[in-house]
Amino acid sequence: MSRLKDTFGRTIDDLRISLTDRCNFRCIYCMPAEGLPWLPRREILTYEEILHLARIFIGLGIHTIRLTGGEPLMRQDVEVLIAGLLRLDATLDLSMTTNGFFLVEKVQRLADAGLKRINVSLDSLRPERFERMVRRDGQLVSKILAGIRLAREAGLNPIKLNCVIMRGYNDDEIADFARLGREQDVQVRFIEYMPLDAQGRWTMDTVVPGAEIHARVHAVYPLRSEQGNGSEPATVHHFADGRGSIGIIASVSQPFCESCNRVRITADGHLRTCLFSLTEHDLKGLLRSGASDEDLADFIIATVWKKEAGHKINQPDFVKPDRSMSAIGG
Ligand code: SAM
Ligand code: SF4
Repeated sequence: MSRLKDTFGRTIDDLRISLTDRCNFRCIYCMPAEGLPWLPRREILTYEEILHLARIFIGLGIHTIRLTGGEPLMRQDVEVLIAGLLRLDATLDLSMTTNGFFLVEKVQRLADAGLKRINVSLDSLRPERFERMVRRDGQLVSKILAGIRLAREAGLNPIKLNCVIMRGYNDDEIADFARLGREQDVQVRFIEYMPLDAQGRWTMDTVVPGAEIHARVHAVYPLRSEQGNGSEPATVHHFADGRGSIGIIASVSQPFCESCNRVRITADGHLRTCLFSLTEHDLKGLLRSGASDEDLADFIIATVWKKEAGHKINQPDFVKPDRSMSAIGG
């Protein structure tokens, strides 16, 4: 049972660790075309530091860790980190979110190191559309799909496909993605566009609400009426004919803050208690100043205790965080 609790009675047992703020893609909902000023390398947590902090978090009751970024596979030898994390706790629910670019060459090493499951982001199946949304060569769509097939052959399970739906960009592909999920046995997770893009271009008009996504899938591939949730942010909807399921992450239209069980460490070692936090807590500074494990644990417990009630996207006093998604670690 996790010792990490907050004032709202939530128990925190899920940690997202960002391995880097760098990325080789430029998704329009995340980064500007020219990229962002990257963190200097000395500011990035080393694998030793990540393992040190992970040992303390696991000791406090964290049981799920997701590696993310930026693009986590841009870090060298991620398999070394994966193996190290699983040595800390062989039962750890360890996963990764990736844009899929490096999967073809790296997925076998990830699986050999013990990674069990993976989420791959892909927002369009049409090359010219992919180019518009990701600002990279449209031929990469087939490379990413090949990476997903190799992930399956390497034994990763489940494989989930993250798809940010933006009105006027890819909302006409919702049924295509549902079909792909059914055919390839992957769970497509449709994500509402959140105001975490670096350029601050987000508008409510571009958000396709989860209910509309559900209706569009249901019209083509009927979904059962009941839904599952668990501790995942996605509501899971099974196809009526039993051929798999979709997930819908409706962070904007149906926030799930009340059941949020996660915190994040940025690539430069700051603890964030919410994606939308306006304050960060400098874990790396404490670690590098030689703090004891007990001091670090006390700092983590006290910080998590103050986790905010939730985000305020739908309220007039909403303030966008200074850092955008790739720098926070989505
Ligand atoms: N680079 C990796 C990737 O794209 O999978 C991992 C990091 S990325 C920040 C993690 C997830 O956040 C991706 O699935 C991405 O689509 C999603 N994301 C990024 N910006 C978003 C936004 N403004 N709204 C909703 N989801 C977003
Ligand atoms: Fe890179 Fe992921 Fe952001 Fe796209 S969503 S720019 S792949 S970090």
